[in-house]
Formats: sequence, structure tokens, C-alpha cells
Amino acid sequence: MIEIRLCGGAGEVTGSGYLVETASARVLVDFGVFQGGDDARERSRSLGPVDPDQLDAVALSHAHIDHSGRLPLLVARGYRGPVFATPPTFALTEILLADMAKLEDEAVARLNRRRQRAGKEPISALFTLDDVGRLHRLARAVRYNEPRLVANGVRARFLDAGHIMGSASIELTIQDGTDERVIVFSGDIGPWGAPILRDPQPPTRADMVFLESTYGGRERPTLADVAAEFKRIVARAVHEHARVIVPAFAVGRTQVILFYLAEAVREGVLPRDFPIYLDSPMATKATAALAEHPEVYDEEARTLATSGQLRSDLRGLRVTESVDDSRVLNNSEHPCIIISASGMCEGGRVVHHLRHNLWRSNVHVVLVGYMARGTLGRALVEGASEVQIFGEPVAVRAQVHNLDGFSAHAGQSELLDWLSGVGPAKPRIVLTHGEDDARAALAGAIAARYGISAERPQLSDIIVLD
Ligand SMILES: [Zn+2]
Ligand SMILES: [Zn+2]
Repeated sequence: MIEIRLCGGAGEVTGSGYLVETASARVLVDFGVFQGGDDARERSRSLGPVDPDQLDAVALSHAHIDHSGRLPLLVARGYRGPVFATPPTFALTEILLADMAKLEDEAVARLNRRRQRAGKEPISALFTLDDVGRLHRLARAVRYNEPRLVANGVRARFLDAGHIMGSASIELTIQDGTDERVIVFSGDIGPWGAPILRDPQPPTRADMVFLESTYGGRERPTLADVAAEFKRIVARAVHEHARVIVPAFAVGRTQVILFYLAEAVREGVLPRDFPIYLDSPMATKATAALAEHPEVYDEEARTLATSGQLRSDLRGLRVTESVDDSRVLNNSEHPCIIISASGMCEGGRVVHHLRHNLWRSNVHVVLVGYMARGTLGRALVEGASEVQIFGEPVAVRAQVHNLDGFSAHAGQSELLDWLSGVGPAKPRIVLTHGEDDARAALAGAIAARYGISAERPQLSDIIVLD
């Protein structure tokens, strides 16, 4: 008998994690933080059903913090076993988790000053930079498609998920008594045909599939359409001498946005020396890490990379390193494009840019990813006329464009196609990593196409495979 407990991602998109228990091993797949809402930090502080002393191995699908963010915390609480992931994933977790430790430190210091004034006890940060270092000493690199024994009776195979560099779906083959059972964890599945990365690799065998459902409720517009709309917005901004602000996940979207800006230059939509600021030290590091892992590129990206085309197209690209450079941008009004993290506008430098620019009418804000409930990005998508930033009201006069077709997630029919290798054999399908309406819609579509009644568990449910 195999038992799986959810550590998050039940009816929401953040906090992913699965504790898999067999008669002889305990393996954790992903362990992300919760994001959005005032209680996100306190929720993330809990290890849920995971006991670090009883855990044999961790397998990590990809670097995004909603999948990796609780791992340093696990290490801080005593975990010393191996952590398996692809090399590009570790290259990115080093950047992302270090950045998170820094932001955590700043946020907690700010909060504690406020708590102190209110006569409340101080709180501690979720984890420190030291914990991130300790985590990476446990790293065990795995390659795509090469099965690896990760714990007693448990083999893991990582399939390319096409979501961000290094991202994987994880197939666990588990010896269960005399039987062998296969459980697939989709991780986050990317769209087909996106620039830079290869398309997702669907699984071919499974007794049970944990499937993400971020966009389970709808189709994504085609990337060609979204790219065309993005270039229209850029063209308009150039014509109006306006500013464009693109909050982007430092890892993944930023590189895709740069790719399409280069295309806009080649098509004559964007002047070659129009100022573009990449204002996110983390995005800069992630872009450099991507350059170091050409093995994850698709054909087209490999050609662009070897020709050096991207660099010559984006002559106006500036990387702002220091906080002071970033501030200078806020204090001026010249037309430019600013790409800055974080994607859901929940932290990082982009929050400052929004504070200084949202109230201006000659500003375009282009939202390019999924905005979780409770985030500033979600409020903008939903058309808020005023938002709170750092405890102050800010009017929204900027034009907000929602281009979530750029999202690094597959749409409904792509998710259904991803199942095509295993669907006909009717495995159990468990929907996670999506809000409840998206899960319900995807469950309906799966029933129609494969005749499988997909499960939609709550956080406290124990899923048993026997
Ligand atoms: Zn992700
Ligand atoms: Zn995710």
C-alpha cells in the first residue's frame, strides 16, 4: 500500500508538495511556500505531515518557490538526506532561494519594527541564507529520462516539463510488495511551441497521475496571437512616448519577453535603441544561468544563441544592478520598457515601479503570468481602481493589459493532450495546483475525453494507492 499526503496546492496554486509513503520509504516530491494573502508566511512555516527525521529523499520538479521554497526550512529543521533535481534546477534554486532569503530578511525586519511599536512579539524569518547553502550541499543532480534509485524501492525518472529551464515531471516507480506501481507528478507543465524551451514530454505509463490544473478551466490564446498583441502594445507605447512596465517571474517569463522584444526590433516595431531596463538582479542571474545550460534549449533558441542575434537586436537593453539605479528610474518619466520581478507583484523591485507609475495615465502595465488569489497582480487583473502598496492607497490610471497567454503553463487542451499517453489505460487522476473552479472544469473535460472521474482532494485528505 502506498499513501500520499498533500502538503499544499489543494484548491490553490501555491504550496505544492506530496509526501509519498511506502512500507519501506518516505519520499517528498516538491515542498513549496504558500503565496498570496496575509497568512502566507505563517502557513509556509508549517511542515504539515513531513517529519524531517523520517524522510529518506526529496525529488524536486523545478525551481519556482511555490515548489521549492520550504526546502531550506526542512533543512533548518534537521533534514540531511539527498535532494534530487536536474542541474539547471539547482542552478536556479541557488538564485531564487538566496533571493527569497534576502527578501524574507527585509520583510521580517519591516514587520518586526511595526510589531514592536504595537507591543507584539517579533517573528523570525522562514529561513536564512545559511539554510539555502546547507540545502545545496544535499543536491544530487539527475538527468532527464535516466531512472535513478532515490530511496529503498523507489526509482525516479525526470521528464522534461517545458515550463522553465530544468523543469520536470517526476515519474516514481515504486516496489510495493510484489507489485510495481507507477505514480507521475506532473509538476508545472509548460505550453507547447513556446520559445527557448523544448515542448513537454508526456508520460507513457502510470497507475496514478497528479496533474496541475492552473489553466484547467480555459484555453490559452495561441502564442502567436499573444506575441502579436504584446508587440501592438509596445508599438503604441513607443508612439505615445509612454512607459511599459512588465512584472515578470525572474525565471522563465523574463527571457521570453526579451525574445519577443528582439523580434519586435527585427520587425521594425521597436526602435533598436529604445531603452529597455531589466531591473531585477535575480532575472539577470537567471538569464546568465540559462546561457550556461544550452542543453535545455529548443532548436530555434540554439540557433539564436549561437548567432549572437539577441544581443545585437536589443542594443537598448540595460541591466540595473543597484537599488540606486532602480530608484533613478522611478524618479524620471522618460519612455522606456521596465521588466522587473516579481511576476505576481508581491515583492521585489517591481512593487516600487508600480507605486511610482500606476497612478499615471501614460503608463502601460503588461501582466504576463498567472496571478494567484490575494496578490497585487490579481487585483490589477480584476480591474481595481485603487490598490494598497506599502500600506498606502495608489490610484490605478495606467492601462493594465492581461497577457496571461505568455504564461509558462499549458492550457486545458494541452493538459488533456499531455495525458494522451496514459489516459486510455485509465489511471487514477488527481487534480492539484489549481483553484477550485479550474479543477472542476478540468475534471469535466477529463471525464468527457477519457471517461475518468478525476479526484479533487482537500489538504487533509490521505490518498491511498493499493
Ligand atoms: Zn512553476
Ligand atoms: Zn507552480
